[in-house]
Parts: sequence; C-alpha cells; structure tokens
Amino acid sequence: NVRVRFAPSPTGPLHIGGVRTALFNYLFAKKNKGTFVLRIEDTDQNRYVEGAEKYIIDALNWCGMPYDEGVGKNETFGPYKQSERKHLYKQYADELIASGNAYYAFDTAETLDFHRKDHEAKGKTFIYNWHNRLKLSNSLSLSADEVKAKLDAGDAYVVRFKSPQDETLHLKDIIRGDIKIDTNILDDKVLFKSDGMPTYHLANIVDDHLMEITHVIRGEEWLPSLALHYQLYKAFGWESPEFAHLPLILKPTGKGKLSKRDGDKLGFPVFPLQWTDPKTNDISRGYKEDGYFPEAMVNFLAFLGWNPGTEQEIFNLDELIEGFDLSRVNKSGARFDPDKTKWFNHHYMQEQSNDDLAELFKNQHSELSDLDVNYIAMVIGLIKERATFVSDFWELSHFFFQAPNTYDEKASKKAFKEGTKELMQELVSIINTIEDFTVETLQTKIKGWITDNEIGFGKVMMPLRLALVGALQGPDVFDIMFMIGKPETVKRIEKVID
Ligand code: GLU
Repeated sequence: NVRVRFAPSPTGPLHIGGVRTALFNYLFAKKNKGTFVLRIEDTDQNRYVEGAEKYIIDALNWCGMPYDEGVGKNETFGPYKQSERKHLYKQYADELIASGNAYYAFDTAETLDFHRKDHEAKGKTFIYNWHNRLKLSNSLSLSADEVKAKLDAGDAYVVRFKSPQDETLHLKDIIRGDIKIDTNILDDKVLFKSDGMPTYHLANIVDDHLMEITHVIRGEEWLPSLALHYQLYKAFGWESPEFAHLPLILKPTGKGKLSKRDGDKLGFPVFPLQWTDPKTNDISRGYKEDGYFPEAMVNFLAFLGWNPGTEQEIFNLDELIEGFDLSRVNKSGARFDPDKTKWFNHHYMQEQSNDDLAELFKNQHSELSDLDVNYIAMVIGLIKERATFVSDFWELSHFFFQAPNTYDEKASKKAFKEGTKELMQELVSIINTIEDFTVETLQTKIKGWITDNEIGFGKVMMPLRLALVGALQGPDVFDIMFMIGKPETVKRIEKVID
C-alpha cells in the first residue's frame, strides 16, 4: 500500500518548485492507488509565517490535487502538524542516546564559531564529528558525572547524531540510482534541542515512520540529508522508505536555480496563487490571478523533470496519472520556460466552453454586464483561437460590443483611396437590400457584387474592415457584420466615410 507525503514548512507561499513536488507525489499516489498525505513541518517556530498553511492547502485544491489525509482530513495518523506532535519526539532522541547512536552536546555558539574560524584560518573545514568531538563539550568527551551535573543544572544542550568513522554508506535513490557516501565527510547533525523541539531531521524521520510512508519524493535540495536519514532508520531499526529526489528547476537561461527574482525580472509568476506578505503587505503574483487555468499549470509542471518518452505534450491530470512513472524523471535540472507555460494555457483555453469563458470575461469587464451571455459566448467562439488569457479577449473583441471611435492611421491611409467613399456608399445600399442578414447571404451578395463589377476585394474589404473594427485585423468581416447586425453595420460604414 503506497503512502506518500508532501511535507512543506509553512515559511511562506509555496513556489512552483513546491507545487511540482506535491504534484509528483500526488501522481505517484494516484497511479499506485495509494494515499497522498499532507504534513505541515512547522518545528521551526521562528520561521513560521501567518497564512502560509492555508495558502498551501488552497494551492493544492486549486491545482485539483487535494490531499487524501492530513490536517483536518482522515486523521488516522494525526495530528499532521509537527508543532502538535511536539511531545512525541523526545523519547526518540532518548532512544538514540541510550543505544549509543546519539549524544548530548553542550557547546555554546561562541565555541563553535571559534573552532570554525580557527579551522578556516588554517585552510580547513571544521566538521563536528569524530575528527573534533573529543575537543568539544559533549557526553563523549565528558565523564558521566559531568554530563549529569550539566543536565541537572539545566545547561542548554543539543542531541547530536553520532556519525561513524571510516564507513562507506550505500544509498539508493529511485531517480539517481546508487550513491556512495564516505561517512568521514558527514557532521554529527543536531536532532533535538533543549527547548524541547526536534530538528527537521528527527521529526521528519519519526513522522515518516509513524505515518507509514513508503516513498519519499522531494526536491534535490534534500539529497545531502539522505545519508543521515538512512543512518537514522538503521539506528532505530526501522525499515526505510524508498527515496526519489526530483531535479532542480532552472532559470529560463538554463543557468542556475529558478528564483523569485527571475520571475519579477522576466514578468512571470513563481507562485500558484497571489500572495500578500503579512508583514510588508507586498503582493506576489500568482498563476491563478494572472489568468492561467489550473490544467495548464499542472501540465507544464509535470514536464519540469518528467517526460512521457513520446511527442505528446498535452496531458490532463488523469492522463498524467496514467502515464506517470518515477523512472521517467530526469536527474538533470529542468529548465523553466515561461513561453511554454503560455503555450499550454492557450491550449487549455481552447478546451474551455465558450459559456464558461463568457462568465469569466463578463466578470472582468463592466461594459459587458448588461449583455446577453450567449452573445458574449458567440463572440468568444470567434476570437479565442487567438487568445492565451481571458484578459486578451477585450483587445480582440471590443468591436463586437462598441463601435470604433478611432481609426488606425496607417490602416486608414492604406484602405482609403480615390473612389473608396463611393464604393462604401454603394455597399451600404446593397446591405440595405439584404433581408436575410446571415453570414452566407452577406458573403454571396457582397462577393458577387465585387466580382461582377471587377472591383477587387481589397478595395472593398479593407475600408469595410476599418469601418467595423477600427483597424485591419480581426475575425472574418462577414462574421462581424452578422454579429453586430444590419443597423449597426450600416451605421459604422456611414461613419467611416463621413
Ligand atoms: N519540510 C521540508 C520542506 O520544507 C520537507 C523535506 C522532505 O520532504 O523531507 O521541504
């Protein structure tokens, strides 16, 4: 029974890297008929940010990947917030001390800093492990009585993992294969602090074990922690889950990790939803508010690290679940391409119903509020092929709703020649004779008139389009005439030659 977890720390809004991690966990869970757990890793109270937890849940829901189990939902293994599990962790730290896998350390920040600088001055790196342990203040260097005295006196301490000397660890990662690590480069990581709080490492391992997590899928930045996590499972005598570390998401240039600043610089969001910083009130843009469809976001995120091995690029969530496989996730970084995200959005725009789009469009434009939604939907049917976002609609369609009040200057010069005025007057009289004002009739009558009199299409179509649209772009003129109706068509032609 596959059980995976997404375990964000509520230190701010989830960026797209976090959402990608959640997505891959979700896809893996669903593909294997397993359970997708949400756990909130909030042991570091200093970094807790108001609203971040709600943001995470809202973002998952907006993407269409709600968790099966977690805060407020099917709490079989709850609580799912580490701050509410605080009481659980000390016994595990004690267990490791008792088994000789961990020890108390009393060194002050100043001492550690001194050693770090001292090593640096000699061109070396200070590692708190067997290299230096005995020079420091801990239960391996002090006598049992000294340790007891310090603990009784309430001296501040941490519990450190005792990293072994001269061993080679053989780690496994589903994406990266076998990894060998020399334990001599590992420092004795802090697991627990005398303020009663575990560090990320201890809490994470204990909770993954207690919550019966079978696969840990997370970002590459956690790969350096894998050696410690492996050793912790071994020290506890627990079966370790399998691990998969997802590749970094790279800047659009392909050089370096994608950051929030890249988004600001190049004008794309790096967050799924808009976020208002509770301290500064600064607003960060979100994909949702920028007009992306969640299907587009999910589709482009899936391709940041995974590919199906075929040419197919369009995958809805069900197709992703069907096609997803960790063995098709790359280890090399995935370049983020903002243009490609637009390409996906354009695609998913075409898949939305015109009625749904009309509602969205109406909400953005007060000019449309009194109009029949069916009319708006028909307009959208004519223009959406050229739109990437709902916010593009107005620019592409305003002439269906309002007569142009200015005419593009260059276009006017091009469209208006000698005799154009007379041609347009003649056109108006033809239009006035048309009773059955449909696209077909308009086409037959107007095109017939042009060919019969050898007028030339451009001579009529250009000024006509200018009259209707105000520019020389836009959908088919006959569609426009039909949509705005006969009186409005005539009015616009008469205005342009006035
Ligand atoms: N709390 C960690 C984070 O914020 C979780 C890392 C993990 O999945 O082990 O990413």
